[in-house]
Amino acid sequence: MPEPTPVLPEVLSQIRALQRTQRPLIICDVDEVILQFISHLETYLQARDLVFVKYEYRLTGNIAGSNGGPVLSADDVRRHLRDFFDEACHMQEMVPGADAALRGLARDWEIVLLTNLPGGHNKPLRETLLAGMGIPYPVLANSGPKGGAVAALAAGRPGPFVFIDDSPTNHSSVHASLPSATQIQFVADARFRRSLRQEAHIDLVTGDWQETAAFIGGILNR
Ligand SMILES: [Mg+2]
Repeated sequence: MPEPTPVLPEVLSQIRALQRTQRPLIICDVDEVILQFISHLETYLQARDLVFVKYEYRLTGNIAGSNGGPVLSADDVRRHLRDFFDEACHMQEMVPGADAALRGLARDWEIVLLTNLPGGHNKPLRETLLAGMGIPYPVLANSGPKGGAVAALAAGRPGPFVFIDDSPTNHSSVHASLPSATQIQFVADARFRRSLRQEAHIDLVTGDWQETAAFIGGILNR
């Protein structure tokens, strides 16, 4: 199990700028949860004769030339991801039902979107895109594992806390930093979701916003 990680100063200042309330809190990722990510990345890769090697939950070591070409280096994967976001982030499509589910949950819960955008890259574009979809919640730009940011968001609040993210790394990090959080592993792409092995700290694996909303609704009715 990883050690708890500290919150980055630039993330803490974004958290301090939020309005503080005592409402229960949902901390929700964006890519592959609210916005389609893998399907758009696959289209980007296909246009460059690249493919996923396996529908397995990692990018580094998992992208290669489509005709048996070599596996891309970590640097090449990073470069492609940056180019992909520059090219696609203004037109990423919503995962079906995300807007309605979050709107319903927002009656009882405070919602904060925590997305990994190193250096806050493309944050205003992303906020505009989400708000235009009827998803007007605050966007916090993080980089690296999310546990520190999630613990800082929870500090001084009574809970309950729900963390929604696709990434196994982020879920391990949150389990280390805020073990009381309810952890939902949401992966929109069915192929990648099926390849996951559910870890003990994950309360629900899903790719369905109706199921997610019903599950979270049940937390306050316990
Ligand atoms: Mg994600």
